Amino acid sequence: MATSSHGFAGPADLHLHSNHSDGTESPAEVVAQAHAHGVRTLALTDHDRSTGWGEAGDAAVARGMTFLPGMELSAKHEWRSVHVLGYLFDPADAALRAETDRIRGDRIGRAERIVRNIGRDYDLQWDDVVAQTTLDATVGRPHIADALVARGIVRDRTEAFDGILHPREGYYEPHYAPDPLTAVRLITEAGGVAVIAHPVTTGRDRMMPVSFIERLIAAGLGGFEIDHRENTETGKRMLREIAAKHDLIITGSSDYHGTGKPNLPGENTTSEDMVARLIARGTGTAPRFP
Ligand code: AMP
Ligand code: FE
Ligand code: FE
Ligand code: ZN
Repeated sequence: MATSSHGFAGPADLHLHSNHSDGTESPAEVVAQAHAHGVRTLALTDHDRSTGWGEAGDAAVARGMTFLPGMELSAKHEWRSVHVLGYLFDPADAALRAETDRIRGDRIGRAERIVRNIGRDYDLQWDDVVAQTTLDATVGRPHIADALVARGIVRDRTEAFDGILHPREGYYEPHYAPDPLTAVRLITEAGGVAVIAHPVTTGRDRMMPVSFIERLIAAGLGGFEIDHRENTETGKRMLREIAAKHDLIITGSSDYHGTGKPNLPGENTTSEDMVARLIARGTGTAPRFP
């Protein structure tokens, strides 16, 4: 694979999860899978934590890949769950750390409440969920889904999300998450680049109003994740226009979760120019080059 004029090579996938959050593989395994699928630049973006960076970065460099440290920060706009990808920020930043600690802490109590709700109707206990998490991973509904699978109540995560874990079923509980404006500011002030993840999915997670997106841009938003399997085609066109108008970065990625989702590494990619812009803009942590 030839090295580009920017000094890094090959297809870039900037959104992948390990078992430090709700992916099913270790950071090194995620890197190995990405490499096997032809990805040559990757970012590890676990939900609300950055503890996988060291292992993933080592594995990436050892394979001749470029590594961008990242995170997918949970946020909330009104009733919408909004995910803000942060790249190249300083993981020691006190304000950002305090916020991610708060989100992860609240996610535990929230997951326990969901399990208690489900336990009224199904044979499921909190220990079943604990058995499905490694380390002190960011706990979410995917781990509850895995516990439901282990109990033989559903076949896979998809069936769990379409059924028992769907808010309409009545077992769902929300967790604490900051406003997207706060999320963008925290990432930006920690030297990072904030990119809204899958901004135009269908269904309940409808797009934030354009006027609000413009406030995020004024607050320092760096770009949009446009090429993502859950974005609608009309939504992508709308986002491309907004991005062009404000000269924003646009990315494409897989949102790989190991065997937890059908998404495969490299199914969507980010152009070299856009990776270069991200790298030029992020000042909190350096990328790692082979
Ligand atoms: P939570 O943040 O705990 O509410 O759970 C949301 C997470 O569940 C997201 O990060 C997704 O990765 C994952 N997720 C959502 N829908 C599905 C699905 N249908 N199958 C597998 N994982 C899903
Ligand atoms: Fe996830
Ligand atoms: Fe997400
Ligand atoms: Zn994700």
